[in-house]
Amino acid sequence: MPTTTAIPTLRGGEWLLQPTEPDAVFTPERLTDEHRLIGQTAQEFVKNEVLPKLDQLEQKDWALARELVKRSGALGLLGVDVPEAYGGVGLDKVSSLVVSERMAQSASFGATWGAHANLTIIPMYLFATEAQKEKYLGRLLTGEIIGGYGLSETGSGSDALGARTRATRQADGGFLLNGEKMWITNGGFADLFLVFAKVDGEQFTAFLVERDFGIKSGKEEHKMGLHGSSTTALIFQDVKVPAENVLGEIGKGHKVAFNVLNFARFKLGAACGGGAYGAIAEAAKYAAERRQFGQPIASFGAIKHKLGEMVVRAYAVESLLYRTAGLVDARIDATPHEPTDGSAALAAFEEYAVEASIAKVAGSEALNYILDENIQVHGGNGYVRDYPAERHFRDARVNRIFEGTNEINRLLIPGMLIRRAMKGDLALIPAAKALQDELLGPPSMPAADDSLLADERRAIDAFKKTALMVLGVAMQTYGQKLTDEQEVLMHIADIAIDVFSAESATLRAAAASDRKTRRASLQVDAARVFVNDATMRIDASARQALAATVDGDTLRTMLAALRRLLKVTPINTAVLRRRLADEAVTRGAYPFGW
Ligand SMILES: Cc1cc2nc3c(=O)[nH]c(=O)nc-3n(C[C@H](O)[C@H](O)[C@H](O)COP(=O)(O)OP(=O)(O)OC[C@H]3O[C@@H](n4cnc5c(N)ncnc54)[C@H](O)[C@@H]3O)c2cc1C
Repeated sequence: MPTTTAIPTLRGGEWLLQPTEPDAVFTPERLTDEHRLIGQTAQEFVKNEVLPKLDQLEQKDWALARELVKRSGALGLLGVDVPEAYGGVGLDKVSSLVVSERMAQSASFGATWGAHANLTIIPMYLFATEAQKEKYLGRLLTGEIIGGYGLSETGSGSDALGARTRATRQADGGFLLNGEKMWITNGGFADLFLVFAKVDGEQFTAFLVERDFGIKSGKEEHKMGLHGSSTTALIFQDVKVPAENVLGEIGKGHKVAFNVLNFARFKLGAACGGGAYGAIAEAAKYAAERRQFGQPIASFGAIKHKLGEMVVRAYAVESLLYRTAGLVDARIDATPHEPTDGSAALAAFEEYAVEASIAKVAGSEALNYILDENIQVHGGNGYVRDYPAERHFRDARVNRIFEGTNEINRLLIPGMLIRRAMKGDLALIPAAKALQDELLGPPSMPAADDSLLADERRAIDAFKKTALMVLGVAMQTYGQKLTDEQEVLMHIADIAIDVFSAESATLRAAAASDRKTRRASLQVDAARVFVNDATMRIDASARQALAATVDGDTLRTMLAALRRLLKVTPINTAVLRRRLADEAVTRGAYPFGW
């Protein structure tokens, strides 16, 4: 399904160094009928078949969970990323994004489904031999067997390569697995697990392990949320795994684990987007119905601020998700490959690993903010179980923890940018040097431009320069030791996240205006609010990072340059947020949903 032919390919992270035109980004407004159809299938499946049975799932009816996974397979939802030749439906990554957003209407079932579809089926398709695919992939795609992903252990979560589960080679070429995995989604009932263990205690390797080989599940964890998804330990005591069940190569388990995570992080961002749109609808409807002081609470400025800000944050996340999916698809389309060859998709997700981490962090944090404000809009009703707001809030908290904590993903963002720069894949160092010369030279006066969003685009240019300045100074000051300066790296990540979010929102709004899309002026409002507030966040992060990096005259010079860069006149965001809030209340929905 060629959808992104008009999207030029860009190297991962390159948006930080150059301007992008509105036409060069994929947006939800460019979805094809085919995208909408698969999205609608997912939406209706969850609405009609999952949500009515949520209580049963929350009571841990795993037979029902299995049945629902199977049903999603019959609808083609499990095979979106897998070519038809292997039993999938072989759609593009935009479709994959649309489906992940819709499946998130039920967070618990979304987790069950995600562990199966994203963490088991995708690595099977990408890394399994033909014989392994023959044996397992078809049955995973129909939901006949259910999958799970066993990476984490009690002592190694973030430090995944520190796993202690051991695979001891046997005389017949097979392995004996001993150890324990922790917090495994679908752990209570899955049939096939992708398990990471060290061969002879050293070579980190992925294995396909059937439950019937002898895996024992621990008891269900008592979690804060996601009560309708199974999370248990997996216990391996002399579990015999045949040689042919190594996935990928011995000693190359990190390739499987990390590549899967690039994919999965992006999809988690998508799921968070889906949760955010739903929460906005919930908050907007409640605010319209709930009356205090003789009027709906939606009429109060304080509540309008909340609803408006929810819309702004969701809009930015949605914009960056579709932009990223468009980049990934464009890259896959531009790579000559056989339809059954997953290596193009693998390479594309590796290329956009920075963007995937941004999607994960921005998505999960926007969702947390939105769900917290959703409770606040609900008042006391937000705190009791009669309303779904408190469940959503509990369910979503884990998104900042799994698939790489947000701290680990924040560290990865500048880490990967620097690594690419060092390898010569990203012209970051020459750009930082050119910026230094520019900042030391006389200030240039930008040409007058009163076109739509011109101020915002100028601000985004300044954001990028700020990111480069801070990153350049940090690299110069700390060199190799920058990895020890996590506080500085976190600030740089925050700036990069804001740059990508602000630019994605602004380009989308500009494209919507150019094409006279419905509600384009509201898109412009959302982008303008986001850019306005990002200026203050970026200023604060840059100041903190610079002050933790240099001092004395150097710091004063840098701060003067920062003031020059971020001279952005604030706008009246109250009036814009009110418009966005009113639209959400009138529609009883996130205004930009399709
Ligand atoms: C509901 C649920 C479902 C899950 N499902 C699965 C699953 O299906 N499969 C699976 O394999 N795992 C799963 N997990 C595990 C999850 O991936 C881990 O919990 C996660 O990776 C974090 O690891 P940890 O809990 O050991 O935290 P830790 O790694 O101990 O982290 C604790 C804190 O320290 C920070 N930290 C750690 N290292 C660093 C560092 N180098 N620099 C800075 N900060 C650091 C973290 O960001 C965090 O804030 C699940 C967890 C939950 C709660």
